[in-house]
Amino acid sequence: MGESRPAATGIVYLVGAGPGDPGLLTVRGRDLLARCDAIATDALANPAIVAAARLANPDVEVHEVGKRGGYGDSASQDATNALLIRLAREGKRVVRLKGGDPFVFGRGGEEAQALAAAGIAFELVPGVTAGVAAPAYAGIPVTHRGVATSVTFVTGHEDPAKTDTQTDWAALARSGGTIVLYMGVKTLPRIAAALVAGGMAPDTPAAAVQWGTHARQRTVTATVSTLAVAIARAGLDAPVITVIGAVVALRDEIAWFDRLPLFGRRIVVTRASAQATGLRDALAARGAEVLELPALRVEPLDPAPLTAAAQRLAVYQWIILTSQNAVALLWEALRVAGLDARALAGVRIACVGRSTSDALMARGLAADVVPARFVAEAVLEALSTRDDVRGRRALYVAAEDARDVLPAGLRALGCVVDQVTAYRTRADGAGAEALRDALIRGDVDVVTFASASAVRGFVDAVGASLAARAPAVTIGPVTSDAARAAGVGVIAEASEASIAGIVAAVETVLGAKQADRPRAGRSGAVGKLDTPFERP
Ligand code: SAH
Repeated sequence: MGESRPAATGIVYLVGAGPGDPGLLTVRGRDLLARCDAIATDALANPAIVAAARLANPDVEVHEVGKRGGYGDSASQDATNALLIRLAREGKRVVRLKGGDPFVFGRGGEEAQALAAAGIAFELVPGVTAGVAAPAYAGIPVTHRGVATSVTFVTGHEDPAKTDTQTDWAALARSGGTIVLYMGVKTLPRIAAALVAGGMAPDTPAAAVQWGTHARQRTVTATVSTLAVAIARAGLDAPVITVIGAVVALRDEIAWFDRLPLFGRRIVVTRASAQATGLRDALAARGAEVLELPALRVEPLDPAPLTAAAQRLAVYQWIILTSQNAVALLWEALRVAGLDARALAGVRIACVGRSTSDALMARGLAADVVPARFVAEAVLEALSTRDDVRGRRALYVAAEDARDVLPAGLRALGCVVDQVTAYRTRADGAGAEALRDALIRGDVDVVTFASASAVRGFVDAVGASLAARAPAVTIGPVTSDAARAAGVGVIAEASEASIAGIVAAVETVLGAKQADRPRAGRSGAVGKLDTPFERP
């Protein structure tokens, strides 16, 4: 952002969003989203990708266009083409975001043709197509040595009953390779019949993967002749990728995604966006779908008082740091004052919580006091047992809305406290709407809170009555108190104030709840439904 650019040099990037899991967006796609002027997105592209783009790029204009499946009628396709051309002619850099890969049943070719005809510059950024990714997340390799030497991507949009079908189903049946069917839920009975009529063995393994790579991924396995019935029984509907061929049997051996401990779970992360990444990544690595509520944004305040304090560090015997933000801002102040960590050589440091002391350790310093409990009271308790606090002077780097417990308690211990208010945290509304919808649908398993102010930001973002529906997992007792005070039910609390502590608490509480989960469609005569609920 921020680079100046001549007017009327609009360009359209046709970008593949990947199949759903936001981690499967390409690096180039993410970079373009972060610095474009406008986004035109499909229903099939994961809204979390657009939400993240808005975070990185707050001024971007977002247009929702097209139908799910990329096969909107031609009127809506014309409207989409016209929109892209108009935005580019206004000089904008436009990202046209499409589910999967733009050129695989995504009408990306048609949009490129329209842009070329209009003389608009465009570039293509391929994406991970659902036909490869959904099977992969179901443990099905689309080719496998000795099992399948070819794979065909085919649309089920072409009804084999029609006389003008362009697909030679008999030839596909004879090919012996894997068949990956897009958009084929409704036409599957006729396609399966055409394949069997063309010579395919009726007991050829087949699988349907709905919402592949999403937390709500569901997989049904059967045979080519029984899959349609199995899909109907399980109630699967678009978007579904169907895989037909011997490779499907490999799922029994190498399924992995639906065996992850938090697979199928939707978890909200409410930490300030700069800090959310670690928690988000840890939860996603365990198979959860993470909804990010950037509940808080860290806004540094006037740096002058902290810089001034950094310049006279010699007067302090103690520094009290209550968050990683305080650590980061103190380091910035040292840098501005022309100093570095050596300036802290003679000072003792007390931290509230492991995340804060970890931030310090990352800068090469070990805290002198880190209480086991993540509360100001515990810091005071630890300091009150020491004989090097009374009569000394402490620098307290605080957030704007910090409680008074620490400075008041320190003064009561006979310590002189200079409080520098270095930053404040602000609620951020981006992403809040998607979260509200999920809470209304009862579609959220856990909302994580890493601070009392995150609770406030969450309540601000979704409103008190929806917040009351959130099952909270918190980082510690103060945050739990704040949650309860806001009407949010706390179902678990981290026993250690860190990202790992939160993740462990989430796993424990959801693991315990596992036994209560509804048991959905079990293995039947015609097919096997592997839902999240089938894990041991
Ligand atoms: N361009 C897209 C495909 C668009 S056609 C791509 O490359 O993936 C739309 C069809 O894609 C859907 O009907 C469904 O068959 C398939 N599809 C897309 N995303 C999917 C997902 N996450 N899980 C299962 N099928 C998906």
